[in-house]
Amino acid sequence: MLRLPVCPYCKAVYRYGDIRRLEGKKSENCHHCKRSFRISRVRGRVILISCAAVLLIGLNILLMNIVEGLTVLGCFIITVILIAGCVLLFPYTVRFYEIDGERKKTDSTKGKKLKRKKLS
Ligand SMILES: [Zn+2]
Repeated sequence: MLRLPVCPYCKAVYRYGDIRRLEGKKSENCHHCKRSFRISRVRGRVILISCAAVLLIGLNILLMNIVEGLTVLGCFIITVILIAGCVLLFPYTVRFYEIDGERKKTDSTKGKKLKRKKLS
């Protein structure tokens, strides 16, 4: 599940830093094939966060039972570390998708060419 996204058209690989730069953008042109794709973050992030939340609750309960005299501060520190880890993993949950218009555009130009040929 956790892997860096690739271009949906030419499978160009994007690095960690590249994904970080795309933060906040909804679409982007591929640096390799120049075609635009849609950037999707929500789904992967929701899965990651819910996994982390379950892990966090479990870990806190476990530590409270094992470690004697674990303070609220201790739990807080564990929580912060795990959330920070989650944020670092965010680029791995990003996925690129083909934009529908991109395909339709090429299809319609092909159609026009065919019609012109028939007319002449
Ligand atoms: Zn590409």
